[in-house]
Amino acid sequence: MDRQQEFVLRTIEDRDVRFVRLWFTDVTGTLKSVALAPAEVEGAFTEGLGFDGSSIDGFTRIFESDMLLQPDPSTFQILPWRGEDEPTSRMFCDVMTPDGEPSASDPRYILRRQLNRAADMGFTCYTHPENEFYLLRSEQLGADGKPVPVDQAGYFDHVPGGVAQDFRRHVVSMLESIGISVEFSHHENGPGQNEIVLRYADALQTADNIMTFRTVVKEVAQLQGSYATFMPKPFGEHPGSGMHTHFSLFEGDSNAFYDPAAEYRLSTTARRFVAGLLKHSPEITAITHQFVNSYKRLWGGGEAPAYVSWGHNNRSALVRVPLYKPDKAGSARVEYRGIDASANPYLTYAVLLAAGLKGIEEEYELPEAAAEDISALTNTERRALGHDPLPGTLHDALRLMEESEFVAGVLGEQACENYLRNKRQEWDEYRVEVTPYELRRYLGIL
Ligand code: GLN
Ligand code: MG
Ligand code: MG
Ligand code: MG
Repeated sequence: MDRQQEFVLRTIEDRDVRFVRLWFTDVTGTLKSVALAPAEVEGAFTEGLGFDGSSIDGFTRIFESDMLLQPDPSTFQILPWRGEDEPTSRMFCDVMTPDGEPSASDPRYILRRQLNRAADMGFTCYTHPENEFYLLRSEQLGADGKPVPVDQAGYFDHVPGGVAQDFRRHVVSMLESIGISVEFSHHENGPGQNEIVLRYADALQTADNIMTFRTVVKEVAQLQGSYATFMPKPFGEHPGSGMHTHFSLFEGDSNAFYDPAAEYRLSTTARRFVAGLLKHSPEITAITHQFVNSYKRLWGGGEAPAYVSWGHNNRSALVRVPLYKPDKAGSARVEYRGIDASANPYLTYAVLLAAGLKGIEEEYELPEAAAEDISALTNTERRALGHDPLPGTLHDALRLMEESEFVAGVLGEQACENYLRNKRQEWDEYRVEVTPYELRRYLGIL
């Protein structure tokens, strides 16, 4: 028993915690949870908690179903939304095989492996995500067959007495009470759409924070009688929900992306990192955009980037280099905008970090920055400038992923295969659906 584990056991006793939830994430980014009685926690620390991995999406093949959850004591928190009567807590877990090896399909492990690689190169990776989501009146569709947003406000709107404002305040204070700092929050462009930006943390902690964040948002919505969704594109006519993420690499205390003498104050390391992100972006799109619906955001305008490009003040670019004050060397970072709100944060950060590190290792050249609004150019102009399109459907994205040695290397063969199988199934289900659009268009009946 180490000191962190002892601290957890002591807190459980002191605070009279009744339930300890063990959290982990399947390949699609769905949070899984099992509640333990406090008396069982010590055993879970020493021996792990067994579960049937074959019942979890994308975890194992059926003949290797026994898996163990190993709780990470550094993630112990008392959950604020369960009330003080019966305190409930949670810990994130690593998934292990019965031999005590990390499970090759555990998204947390897949990210950890890339962070270790970064550490071997002398880097710590920090990330901060801009989480967008829609707040709806309920789970029910309206009379027009569409979801019903809680308000009709837009970007940065202050809505007096609005549901969304109270909602954001509640979410932010809950997050702060479990140690997740929020940088800012505001109403987004779409009706009922909101954004909450978490403060930067190391990438594994950020991914854990995102899982917690999504849960808190859903819980608070339910408490207030509304419904929150991270669906990438719930409305055809309004912007989708993204999860733009800012990346930086630190060497000790110094930001490896910062060079005061360089163009945009962007160091050679940063330029190579961005070149890596750009080069590998099409083959990782099936991970950053994992649902059939994701591609409606990607190709539906609303500031979602659809082409490979970077810029320093260009909101149609896939990678944006934000402007920051020269005295803020520490804040040098790059923003990857090709991630939607439903992506599995562990796998997403693993492939993006790996792409950037590959760019550094292999000294990729960064192409010219894009000056124009890329979506306004013609196809020929775009091709001439090297702005290749990201895949337009889940099917296309899966094909690129299937052919990618890079992705297979980052995920590992087994996890890659499991992921592809899971996503192919989604595509196969979708492709035989006859949609309301087709009925209107081809049947001619309204
Ligand atoms: N909602 C947009 C997206 O899906 C982003 C809008 C913004 O924050 N600039 O990526
Ligand atoms: Mg933003
Ligand atoms: Mg935004
Ligand atoms: Mg952004």
